[in-house]
Amino acid sequence: MTRLGVMGGTFDPVHHGHLVAASEVAATFGLDEVVFVPTGQPTFKQGQDVTRAEDRYLMTVIATASNPQFTVSRVDIDREGLTYTVDTLRDLKVSRPGAELFFITGADAIEQILTWKDAEELFSMAQFVAVTRPGHTLSVEGLPEERVKVVEIPALAISSTDVRARSRAGKPVWYLVPDGVVQYIAKHQLYRGMS
Ligand code: ATP
Ligand code: MG
Repeated sequence: MTRLGVMGGTFDPVHHGHLVAASEVAATFGLDEVVFVPTGQPTFKQGQDVTRAEDRYLMTVIATASNPQFTVSRVDIDREGLTYTVDTLRDLKVSRPGAELFFITGADAIEQILTWKDAEELFSMAQFVAVTRPGHTLSVEGLPEERVKVVEIPALAISSTDVRARSRAGKPVWYLVPDGVVQYIAKHQLYRGMS
């Protein structure tokens, strides 16, 4: 049975915090693969200016290309409407029959999980792995213990919000995101004049 990690995110843009989380969880749980799934229109970011899905997808491909264990899925960006994790997991179960799913979330995201669509069903579809994140307290209180595991990862105080703000201000983002992503942002003039 394939042990498949699922790293969901807006990835606007993908950064080294995401990559370290995926890598640590893969090592800790002996995963065969981690599939990065860029969201379509994120439910919790309605009304915010989110970069074109195709740009976020391509940056994620560039960032993960050198790791043979990392792949990228289009399921969320090709689905119409808002992105719900329950749909992500359903689609992956169809495209990857027999895979055992491990959904990876940071401390800030796991806190909200009970507010996600079909929260109860989520826990039956995947094992959840909550990773530590600087600036956020990791609490899994109230979540089913046997379905939610906690992993402490090397602390990288990086967020996409900060990368966007730095780009907009003309500050460097080298070493916060992979080199290819720095170059993609410059080439496509992303994050200029975004709110
Ligand atoms: P934004 O600031 O736009 O919300 P972000 O940096 O939080 O971006 P997301 O795409 O929202 O990135 O996050 C995807 C997933 O990765 C979430 O589960 C989030 O908690 C986790 N994550 C993001 N950055 C880190 C980090 N530095 N360390 C650990 N987990 C992280
Ligand atoms: Mg976030």
